Amino acid sequence: MTETVNFTDLNLSAPVLKAVSDLGYETPSPIQAATIPLILNQQDIIGQAQTGTGKTAAFALPVLSQIDINQKQPQVIVMCPTRELAIQVAEAFQAYARHIKGFHVMPIYGGQAYGLQINALKRGVHVVVGTPGRVLDHLNKGTLKLTGIKTLILDEADEMLRMGFIEDIETIMDAAPKECQKTMFSATMPAPIAKIARKYLKSPEEVKIASKTSTVERIDQQFLMLRNNQKLDALTRILEAEEYEGCIIFVRTRSLTTELSEKLEARGHAVAPINGDMNQAAREQTIRRLKSGKLDIVIATDVAARGLDVERITLVINYDIPLDTEAYVHRIGRTGRAGRTGKAILLTTPREKRLLFAIERATKQKLTSMPVPSSDMIAQRRADNFSAQVAEVLSDTPLQFYQEFSAKLQEKLEVSESELAAALIYMAQERSPLQVEMSDFQSMDVYRDREDRGGRDDRGGRDRPDRGGRDKQRDDSNKQTYRIEVGREHGVQVSDIVGAIANEAKIDARQIGRIKLNDSFSTVDLPKDMPAAALDHLKKVYIRKRQIDISETQANTGDGGDFRKPRRSEGRNDRSDKKRPQGRRSENRGK
Ligand code: AMP
Repeated sequence: MTETVNFTDLNLSAPVLKAVSDLGYETPSPIQAATIPLILNQQDIIGQAQTGTGKTAAFALPVLSQIDINQKQPQVIVMCPTRELAIQVAEAFQAYARHIKGFHVMPIYGGQAYGLQINALKRGVHVVVGTPGRVLDHLNKGTLKLTGIKTLILDEADEMLRMGFIEDIETIMDAAPKECQKTMFSATMPAPIAKIARKYLKSPEEVKIASKTSTVERIDQQFLMLRNNQKLDALTRILEAEEYEGCIIFVRTRSLTTELSEKLEARGHAVAPINGDMNQAAREQTIRRLKSGKLDIVIATDVAARGLDVERITLVINYDIPLDTEAYVHRIGRTGRAGRTGKAILLTTPREKRLLFAIERATKQKLTSMPVPSSDMIAQRRADNFSAQVAEVLSDTPLQFYQEFSAKLQEKLEVSESELAAALIYMAQERSPLQVEMSDFQSMDVYRDREDRGGRDDRGGRDRPDRGGRDKQRDDSNKQTYRIEVGREHGVQVSDIVGAIANEAKIDARQIGRIKLNDSFSTVDLPKDMPAAALDHLKKVYIRKRQIDISETQANTGDGGDFRKPRRSEGRNDRSDKKRPQGRRSENRGK
């Protein structure tokens, strides 16, 4: 948190600055502060940064600041490993370009109809964001031309390598104009990626944000891995289930400080936002209210929380994972003040797990996984609170008047003491019901495979190209072999299978084990604990125009097993493609 750079110091164009301000970003993240001036200066870059550090804006903001709106041929191309990421990056471009009139970005990826992409390319797009296979297809068809490209960006280069896209990338790099600016982002630098950098980048600047290690003592650090849309629910449950005096919740943007504050206030919390939009006096007033106990929760951005020192804070919640590890250490240091113990809880998503590991390395401490508080836990807390309040009233309040009133009421209503007590409890608990009816949901700890991590730290030295890389580090003991109804005779390659499964089942490509191509079908080893919903979804996925119809085999892992389909599915599942109703294909189009 030492940098004092502002977005306005970075020579970004006015419309881009306006978009950044609309989005509520307060300061550039370290990777942005380091990269933006270099890209604006037309330098080639190797950026070692993981998802969650703000790397998309690090390249999108400078590129958009220099876009030539009159050039109809694509002038920027971003290569991404997955369709999900391509869409996300394209959406980020759109958001940052919201004040650039006439700007067009197009994501192009497999699985989407060509016609749509071809029409858009014909109409003219400024930025193309694509997965390597589909970009190559368009190049071969002549529907995409790279002659106008000024900047080529490889995003998550190591992931593309893992997914077997290395040759496609080289072909695309060869097709781009020699003199265009080339930028590469990768969380790790395995040898084949470093080789591509040497071959194609001109005296590249290396941008790597070194994270200092800092010790954080007396703070119990936990994390929950969730989907983004589960965060608010998880947060409200945590706030009910945890015991704390004062709590600070960190978010990334100004807009989220106010949004979340309103949502928690509506749920009965004493809460207020602090952000960089508020003047010093207003911020200080909020901090005073937190100190005095008028507020229990403050929702803050990093900038606003600088120097905040309130002993009452016993809980820090990172609602958004911070963009760098130093910010994390700074944030959690808001608790455990004056020798007291504190607790820090981090909400994170599977995509951000590398950042989580970076935090663990920087703090030399493992965060423990905590469950989303269940309805039973919350019911227990509410019951305990209720009983503590009753005990307090019994010990400090003169109750004679109420005892007499209760006796009269009992007589008048002709009810027993316990019936009367039950009715009164019912009335007293309405705001915070003692009977809790919440559907429980699981945090996704299954995605955090510590073994997997042991073999692949962020230096990535052990990564190997294509499936050799995966094979080498495979741990078959917790894998199950699945059969999919596509094989060599359908023109399927290993990279198609990895891409489709990683995209559709939302699992890390590294968790995909051995893949064996046969003529009419293939087998793939996947984690044993794959959620049923992910498998159901996978059944309907298409590769090379064929539904993969995934099913468990009777073999445990890929070697020498029995790849017959389990009997239960034999009747239902005719493998002959000719017999399959053609119409089913359209069910999955455009997903
Ligand atoms: P990325 O690493 O590109 O996936 O970005 C991670 C998240 O951080 C995205 O949700 C961005 O919208 C957000 N973000 C990027 N830069 C900033 C910034 N300077 N301040 C706040 N949030 C940011």
